[in-house]
Amino acid sequence: MPDLGTLLTEISKEMSALTERGKVADYIPELSNVDPAGFAMVVATNDGAVHSVGQIQQLFSIQSVSKVFTLTLALGIHGNAIWKRVGREPSGSAFNSIVLLEHEKGIPRNPFINAGAIAITDMVTAGHEPRETIGEILRFIQFLSGDETIVIDHAVAKSETVTGHRNYALAHYMKSYGNLKGEVDKTLGVYFHQCAIAMNCTQLAMAGRFLAQGGQHPDTGHQVISAERARRVNAIMLTCGHYDGSGDFAFRVGLPAKSGVGGGILAIVPGVASIAVWSPGLNEYGNSLIGTLALERLADAMGWSVFNPQG
Ligand code: GLU
Repeated sequence: MPDLGTLLTEISKEMSALTERGKVADYIPELSNVDPAGFAMVVATNDGAVHSVGQIQQLFSIQSVSKVFTLTLALGIHGNAIWKRVGREPSGSAFNSIVLLEHEKGIPRNPFINAGAIAITDMVTAGHEPRETIGEILRFIQFLSGDETIVIDHAVAKSETVTGHRNYALAHYMKSYGNLKGEVDKTLGVYFHQCAIAMNCTQLAMAGRFLAQGGQHPDTGHQVISAERARRVNAIMLTCGHYDGSGDFAFRVGLPAKSGVGGGILAIVPGVASIAVWSPGLNEYGNSLIGTLALERLADAMGWSVFNPQG
């Protein structure tokens, strides 16, 4: 087994030599201003070690990676009842498809496409003011990573609100089918703020540890979710975590993972490690181009794949 620290240094060198770095998201100025040369990778192993390389202090917008944490919260609050309002099949369509939602009568295909994530946020928000739920999501992520300095980038949240026409359309569409209980503005207010949480790779890798450890928080011993539910969140990450690029990601990397348009990816090696990688240039599916390559290289070198023989 290669030494993780040495391997990460090698991977970082290989990645910095690549000239094709994908396209930085440009739908809001806060994301388009990020340098595509950026790269960081952190591996938090279950024995408590943390290995890292690159710009590990650099904050980025976690965007859709936040959907993993709200799904976990929703499962904790509502249990299996959430599956009446969202499916758990890969979509094969773009992350913000309206056609798919129409076809499926307002029940989003999975919790990670935008419509599904908005429905999940609606469930987490039920009975609360948006401000309370935003605080709860933020505190939950701070608790998972053991870092109270994590904050929301309010400029990103504001830009998301101003440009989020398609998310409004998805939310109204679900409302028309009765699959959104709260007011559209309030639910989306929470959704835009969860997407605007800013984290660095260390914080993100630390926040994912419970998914590599059977749902248990490694610092407190607290059972964040049951082992069975942690396994299921991982299953959805594997099948749906990269939108319509999920099949290709599973083929190449073979690990549960969730990407965001800010260029971050959280990947889980169940029983072994939580990994965060960041590089802002995106591939054609809106997933970090260099981040995916780096994960492919790491998983391959370490023999980390959920498809490897056990034992
Ligand atoms: N805030 C973005 C949106 O809802 C998140 C998309 C993403 O990270 O994939 O459009």
